[in-house]
Amino acid sequence: MVISVADAPVNHVKAPLLGILGGTFDPIHLGHLRLAEEVREALDLAAVHFVPSAVPPHRPQPSLGPQQRLALVQAAIADHPGFIADGRELERAGVSYTVDTLKSFAAEFPEHHRVLILGMDAFNGLPQWHRWQELFDWAHIAVANRPGAAATGEVAALLAERRLQPEQLARQRAGGVVALEITRLDISATAIRAALDAGRSVRYLVPDCLLNPLQAYYSDLDSGLNTH
Ligand code: ATP
Repeated sequence: MVISVADAPVNHVKAPLLGILGGTFDPIHLGHLRLAEEVREALDLAAVHFVPSAVPPHRPQPSLGPQQRLALVQAAIADHPGFIADGRELERAGVSYTVDTLKSFAAEFPEHHRVLILGMDAFNGLPQWHRWQELFDWAHIAVANRPGAAATGEVAALLAERRLQPEQLARQRAGGVVALEITRLDISATAIRAALDAGRSVRYLVPDCLLNPLQAYYSDLDSGLNTH
């Protein structure tokens, strides 16, 4: 008999929920910020930690250095009391695996239930992640729609098998998947990098406070000064 996550033992005491939004953030943009804000509201998260990855295992190396990407995250969320720029992956040597990040959150925040926030494109890639099945031992996952991405094959089955309703996350320790509808913003860091490379405006795609630092980083990249 298959027991679904929805049938797992429940706690009667509700735990506070902590959101974790990992990403390359090369650079952070309004798509990331709306994702975090809408998931925070929908799940009543106590806070959302933005965790830039140092050496993303699944993709080409970022154009901006880790400290630049972290600095942009810090600037973008500085006025939001519920958002935290979290450099823990930059302090760890070597490749950043999300499973290790989730373990470090579990050690630091044992009273919270952790919720890993993913856009649908990232959720689709989950079966390629290092020790991905272990992620469910350490956190729930909140997956949000993203223009151009739909749950496919293995992850559609995962979603059906592990699906929980938002109010269940505080009473079950980990292992559930919640699907959330958020405002569709077809914004990507790839398109922003292309615009910056071409000298085009990225206003209204990123927070205004990032326009000057981004321009400075990219003009250093052009002149070969930016060596990370
Ligand atoms: P790139 O274009 O370089 O691949 P990206 O814009 O996808 O970057 P990431 O830093 O790779 O940004 O994304 C971090 C997380 O944010 C992922 O889970 C991704 O799915 C999610 N995300 C990014 N942009 C959006 C968006 N516009 N809508 C919903 N989710 C998003």
